Amino acid sequence: MSAPPIETVVVDGLALANELRAELAKRIAGHIEAGRRPPKLVVVLVGDDPASASYIKGKQRACARIGMDSAEHHLPASTSQKQLLDLIDTLNRDTGVDGILVQLPLPKGINANAVAEALDPAKDVDGLTPMNQGRLLLGEAGHRACTPLGVMEILRRNEIPLEGALAVVIGRSAIVGKPVSLLLQQANATVTMCHSRTRDLAGVCRQADIIVAAVGVPRLVQRDWVKPGAAVIDVGVSQVDGKLVGDVDTDGVCGVARIVTPHRRGVGPMTITLLLCNTLDAYEARLAG
Ligand code: NAP
Repeated sequence: MSAPPIETVVVDGLALANELRAELAKRIAGHIEAGRRPPKLVVVLVGDDPASASYIKGKQRACARIGMDSAEHHLPASTSQKQLLDLIDTLNRDTGVDGILVQLPLPKGINANAVAEALDPAKDVDGLTPMNQGRLLLGEAGHRACTPLGVMEILRRNEIPLEGALAVVIGRSAIVGKPVSLLLQQANATVTMCHSRTRDLAGVCRQADIIVAAVGVPRLVQRDWVKPGAAVIDVGVSQVDGKLVGDVDTDGVCGVARIVTPHRRGVGPMTITLLLCNTLDAYEARLAG
């Protein structure tokens, strides 16, 4: 007899994000009541990518809702690397700024690594500087990238056991795949990192208690890749016929997975919320000297 279907929880990432944002709003209100200025996030956008502009508006709205200040520097696509680095230098030295986010991707001709290196690690609320990436590798305190933190928060708030779990991360970028692998490993999961050259990806995934898909290939992870009861986190976003699609066949894995995050209202709202969280942490770290 085959096993009965599992009642899969389709994670409401927006509801989780709202829970966390309410906690952040309370912390900020406490600072305002104590007569302090609110924390401030500055976002820097170079060029006219409409998706980036819309992400930035979303981040600024999210700041306003929890009582956090935000400001935007919108530079033309013709901006030189030196002009951008000069702006970052000014923001690094501005004691009224707690967090700096440079929206990626940057226009051709600007080296994203040079920009990351220029950020003050204390204000690098996206966890991109070599210093913060190195601290993650060493297991030392520092800002972590927001999407990996969002993934960990989703697992934690859904009470997914991590200790000793077999976790498969598909994707090895510096912004998602690698940091999420390290965070899972630090939580005592046994992690396999997969990528475009991995052999028998489906077979590797079938072993996993946790699958994190951060690829950008529409519906790569299918029902028969998922072990019954596994947690499936879909980070990927791509477009098919003008519609946003994730890396996971969400409907397909329902009935097999224990939890799955949908591509809309899944990891995305948590990513923004962890950015707010990192900015508030940076502000409180400054207060603490
Ligand atoms: P990326 O830098 O393009 O990395 C993609 C990774 O996927 C690479 O490591 C690549 O392998 C691997 N890959 C590509 N095709 C594959 C395949 N067929 N099988 C297995 N692995 C494959 O992308 P990223 O910045 O990490 O982002 C990943 C996805 O997450 C994108 O869709 C992005 O839009 C989305 N994203 C979402 C959020 C959010 O908040 N929801 C945040 C950030 C990113 P190689 O290394 O071998 O090339």
